[in-house]
Amino acid sequence: MSHPVLIIGAGLAGWQTAREFRKLDTTTPITLVTANAGDFYAKPTLSNAFGQKRGPAQLVTTPAATIAQTLNVTLLPHTQVTAIDTATQTLHTSAGPLPYRDLVLATGAQPIRVPLQGDAADGVLSVNSLDDFAVFHQRLTALGEDASQVRVAIMGAGLIGCEFANDLAGAGYQVTVIDPYDRPLAALLPPTASTQLQAALSELAVQWQLGATVQSVNAGSDGLSLGLSNGQTLSADIVLSAVGLRADTALAQASGIAVERGILVDKQLRTSASHVWALGDAAQYASAASPGALTGRTLPYVMPIMAAAKALAANLHGTDTALAFQAMPVAIKTPALPIVAHPPAPGQLGQWVEQVLGEWWFASAEAADTHHGFVLTGSHTSKRMTLVKQMAAAA
Ligand SMILES: Cc1cc2nc3c(=O)[nH]c(=O)nc-3n(C[C@H](O)[C@H](O)[C@H](O)COP(=O)(O)OP(=O)(O)OC[C@H]3O[C@@H](n4cnc5c(N)ncnc54)[C@H](O)[C@@H]3O)c2cc1C
Repeated sequence: MSHPVLIIGAGLAGWQTAREFRKLDTTTPITLVTANAGDFYAKPTLSNAFGQKRGPAQLVTTPAATIAQTLNVTLLPHTQVTAIDTATQTLHTSAGPLPYRDLVLATGAQPIRVPLQGDAADGVLSVNSLDDFAVFHQRLTALGEDASQVRVAIMGAGLIGCEFANDLAGAGYQVTVIDPYDRPLAALLPPTASTQLQAALSELAVQWQLGATVQSVNAGSDGLSLGLSNGQTLSADIVLSAVGLRADTALAQASGIAVERGILVDKQLRTSASHVWALGDAAQYASAASPGALTGRTLPYVMPIMAAAKALAANLHGTDTALAFQAMPVAIKTPALPIVAHPPAPGQLGQWVEQVLGEWWFASAEAADTHHGFVLTGSHTSKRMTLVKQMAAAA
């Protein structure tokens, strides 16, 4: 029997590649190796589950065995990949060596951990997987049935921090968000949009510590005591860190595969090693180059994965296919103020221009009528497809 297409990772990138490949090829063996159980879930649901009273078990949309059977995939769950021998095309895993015809790295990203002082610093949680969510959910619900008595400190007012703030405050928890910037979602939104979001979340009783970072977490007589860089002390019962993710490049790097902020892939999703491909949160896409930059960038969102999996499947099938990303705005799950953001590529010169409150365009520095991004809030989010089409037409 020929060696399989081997996929590492049972996240959206791994399973979607298997799904797209099976549309083109029903016979080539596929093996999927993953450190977790392999159940399929939509990761975006992790940050709006509390409001919907859904626990980890309810978030699984397809159990691992079902999806593996449907796609005719040999699944190796709870299996850690330890090394890749690109010369002999062999994967080394906790279940033994596995030869491959082609290898797909879909290893995702890891939460960034900021160094913290204090005797309770190790108890700070992050949520980037269903397993992480199960721990967070268990710890939070164990603090008592009355959410209004439970204080949650969220480090980071980025996309994930704001989504959790909305979800948990909406579910009745006392939420405080701490961020070094002076406004939420500072990296994605123009200032007036941040102001709108801050006001909407404040209406849900979210408290803010902006322009500050958490320095220490200690256990005290009143739960946890957080020491902040602005000299203040904050009491909380649980701390969620949402300060960002970093592509998981360790395995690729140790195997001699070229990495920067992610695993470098060309427009066909090839890495620097032959027969090895990558996509998803782990990848740094040449198809998403910033202006003036030699290499691409990471795109840790759902829509890029869907496009990348389709192109990768075609390449694995032998049809040379260059990945081209369309405009892919991100819907931010803050129901207090719905937001659709299509930020400009990093390094893009220009400025945000407010059309009306709720609609911003990122105008090019060279030609003000050329737009490289937009942000829509509230009822203006319904214009999302119109603006995507306008940008595509002008490109
Ligand atoms: C809370 C939250 C909300 C989000 N909301 C949105 C949203 O609304 N819209 C949007 O577009 N995006 C959103 N995202 C981002 C989106 O969910 C991710 O981009 C996407 O799920 C990443 O999928 P992935 O398959 O690349 O990585 P992952 O889901 O991280 O999967 C990686 C897989 O690799 C396995 N693995 C890693 N290393 C090894 C190893 N050495 N051996 C074996 N297995 C290994 C892991 O076990 C895992 O199965 C959100 C992310 C989070 C955390």
